[in-house]
Amino acid sequence: MAPSGPTPGPSVTLDDDALRAAFASLDLAQQSGHGDMDPATFRRAAHAVADLMADYLEHVEDFPVLPDVEPGELRGRFPAAPPEDPEPLGDLLGDYRALVEPNITHWQHPAFFAYFASSGSAPGILGEMLMATLVGNAMLWRTSPVATELEEVTIGWLRQGLGLPEAFDGFFTDTASTSSLIGLAGARQAVAGMDASADGLAGRPALRIYASAEAHSSIEKAAMTLGIGRAGTRRIPVDAEYRMDVAALGAAIREDRAAGHVPCAIVATIGTTGPTSVDPTPAIADVAEYEGLWLHVDAAYAGATALLPERRDPFAGWERADSIVVNPHKWLFTPLDASLFLTRRPQVVRAAFSLVPEYLRTLDREGAVHDFNEYTPQLGRRFRALKMWMLVRYFGLEGMRARLREHIELARQFAGWVDAEPDAERLAPVPFSTVCFRWRPRRHAGHEDEPAVREELDRLNTAVLEAVNREGRVFLSHTRLRDRMTLRLAIGSVRTEPRHVALAWERIRAHAVRLDGERAG
Ligand SMILES: *Cc1c(COP(=O)(O)O)cnc(C)c1O
Repeated sequence: MAPSGPTPGPSVTLDDDALRAAFASLDLAQQSGHGDMDPATFRRAAHAVADLMADYLEHVEDFPVLPDVEPGELRGRFPAAPPEDPEPLGDLLGDYRALVEPNITHWQHPAFFAYFASSGSAPGILGEMLMATLVGNAMLWRTSPVATELEEVTIGWLRQGLGLPEAFDGFFTDTASTSSLIGLAGARQAVAGMDASADGLAGRPALRIYASAEAHSSIEKAAMTLGIGRAGTRRIPVDAEYRMDVAALGAAIREDRAAGHVPCAIVATIGTTGPTSVDPTPAIADVAEYEGLWLHVDAAYAGATALLPERRDPFAGWERADSIVVNPHKWLFTPLDASLFLTRRPQVVRAAFSLVPEYLRTLDREGAVHDFNEYTPQLGRRFRALKMWMLVRYFGLEGMRARLREHIELARQFAGWVDAEPDAERLAPVPFSTVCFRWRPRRHAGHEDEPAVREELDRLNTAVLEAVNREGRVFLSHTRLRDRMTLRLAIGSVRTEPRHVALAWERIRAHAVRLDGERAG
């Protein structure tokens, strides 16, 4: 299906005949009833797939960022029953092209400004292909020696790049959600006088975790998973710049202790998901130290910028954390998934998850190497270090830094356009590459807090967001800051260029002026 709307459909670069011929030749190999595809067919198929991939990346910009589909519409285009008989590979790849490719939300699109970008750079994609080929399950050292040791090496590279001391050890997980779960499981395990992994929590006083009102939902999900619950997660209020109020944190801890609860961990966020605010980590670290609590730092998005020596101020104090998460799959151009988990207390984390049945014991080398599954809830682990190794080598730290600096500069420019526009206003500082703002026609200036104006601005900005996203040339998302509908533009795709950011502002302005004109009558 060709995408509809004002954006032109994807141009077919492998011309249809060449495509059909390439796919048809794949049909020649007869499938036998046993074993895998024969190597010669695999080679041809892999070349055809490589063409599909390169074609997609070359022309991803021609798709609307959001596919023009209604919920449930796609299911009906696929057979409800599985095929009984083998199908020709060419048919499969043709269907991929026709049914899958146009109907994805194009995370690789250079005008993807919603949520946080999660783009896959070419070296990362190549790494994924090789990972899939080797399988390389890094559950034990023995099950993939190079996967385990390359993970140790690349973790060390990233740790150094981020400016963190050697005391931090770590590994890769799938997501920040898992990394924070692991960090908080370490915190739970570290609580004096109990062994949560051995005994569970039954009959124990309630544990408490502290995170700011702007902390990511994954912290509460971790609490839900760890038996601490949402009720055990205290959301600490934030100041005018959305940073955790440390006096309120101290008061909450004292109140909980007085009530007989057991404080367990504080989560400081460097780069919150809505306004990308930075909690005062040094003061929070003082509280954690004084109270004897585990400090977990969630820098899933913004952590990448610690690679920039001139922009380390927001990271002051994070070296005092017990555990830290940074997501390479957010702002380090790594195809989903890769989250970096670092901890000063790997033995505590290991105590939280280690369980070695006889069939997993490595009889001859116990203790000499990392068996990473002992530190995580999962047993099987992907060889993520391979793509990280390729990606870091391909870009070099300097190449990554150059891209991060450009994104930060583009966000600064965009914020400047918002600030210079009398009919718009910025709703949060821009410490990284995310701008929170809204359209606020000048006739409403000074009346923003009147209920009728509030509602009008919420409705107007909701309409602007819908119109911009429906058009499909750029994709933005939103949040609510101080109960105001807030548009949010986050820059971080490896493919974004200045013209895409300019296009975003142009489309937002055009729709906002039109919609406000219609509303004002
Ligand atoms: C995106 C985000 C997460 C969750 O990331 P996943 O890898 O999708 O689990 C956690 N914390 C912060 C601050 C985030 O921005």
